[in-house]
Amino acid sequence: MYRLAQSQPLIFRKGLDMKEAVAGDLAAAYHSRLVDEVRTAGYRHDKGRLTVHLAREFGFCYGVDRAVDYAYQAVARFPGRNVFLTGEIIHNPHVNDRLRSNGIRFLSDPEERGRDLGPDDVVILPAFGVTVAEMKRLSDLGCTLVDTTCGSVLTVWKNVVRYAQDGYTAVIHGKVKHEETRATASQALKYPNGRYLVVLDREEAAIVCDYIRRGGNRAAFLSRFANATSPGFDPDLDLQRIGCANQTTMLMSESLEIERMFREAFGDRYGEAALAQHFRAFDTICSATQERQDAVISLLDSQPVDLMIVVGGYNSSNTCNLARICASRVRTFHIADPNCLVSADRVRHRPVGPPSTAPPSEVVTENWLPTEGRVTVRLTAGASTPNNIVGQVIETLERFTGV
Ligand code: SF4
Repeated sequence: MYRLAQSQPLIFRKGLDMKEAVAGDLAAAYHSRLVDEVRTAGYRHDKGRLTVHLAREFGFCYGVDRAVDYAYQAVARFPGRNVFLTGEIIHNPHVNDRLRSNGIRFLSDPEERGRDLGPDDVVILPAFGVTVAEMKRLSDLGCTLVDTTCGSVLTVWKNVVRYAQDGYTAVIHGKVKHEETRATASQALKYPNGRYLVVLDREEAAIVCDYIRRGGNRAAFLSRFANATSPGFDPDLDLQRIGCANQTTMLMSESLEIERMFREAFGDRYGEAALAQHFRAFDTICSATQERQDAVISLLDSQPVDLMIVVGGYNSSNTCNLARICASRVRTFHIADPNCLVSADRVRHRPVGPPSTAPPSEVVTENWLPTEGRVTVRLTAGASTPNNIVGQVIETLERFTGV
């Protein structure tokens, strides 16, 4: 069930054999009977003048489900020992706070920063993984590591390592400050000639494509991507052969577009016949992200709608991307939890557009809910949002539209 190497720290990867022991706690913390009922009723909920249509794929993904399960199991498996998380296990404040109240300490919290760790300590690694250097540091300290890194993230790492091995620069569509992208980029440096470059969006990809086609001002390029390149990056050498990869939670349509842009740039520069020697790509958006994005598009396509609510952490990449998809079609409110629905007149929400790694900000909108007549709300939730939060949002909408 797990890998144990002699005179090395324990690294649990496939479970701690305490699944049944924590199943009740997990259900009590995150389950919602109302959400189950809405699912059974065809993802539709009618009450009074309110109709809620729920996306067919929403909320906890398989990777988050597993990470949270492992965290609970770690507490049960190691009673009396300090159990730490390197930082947020996933980007949802409610889930992280529940883990804190369950006794797990966060090394990112001010009071834990700089703490000395040792063989008696248990450290949980989050679903989006940690950098190679952080993994080595914790291993060298002899900590017991509970590794919840999602299998979909590990697949990306495997491909990035192969790029490095074969002399291709990993060009990662992602947010340079996001934990997963930092961890993925670090994989490229496992080989001495490994290189990486992180691009945030089409605009940055277009700058790189220009350089691939025609070269350019090396200093200006390095300045623009100063925090997004591997040490010693040289665009004149390191953009001759690239492999595309993604942070797993990016907007699928944007990732595919960026891949197409790079493919065309290399075709223009070296000719179609030589493309394979200069360009590689593989699909690294995880299936859970893709399913949630597809489900929300189909929800928007299905019928007219008054407004859309997207529920999830403000620093959650996949939630912010769901909100972007919705906001291009309909009035959309990205809320963190039901408390953001302050009243029938007032909602607090995150503006749609800035990347999830931007400083958290909230705005208030008045008169957001029609005060009379039928109200149709469509609802989805990011991959780190538990069902109990989704259920509480529906209950709050019921209250505000009650007669
Ligand atoms: S969003 Fe995808 S990659 Fe991230 S934890 Fe969930 S399944 Fe894994």
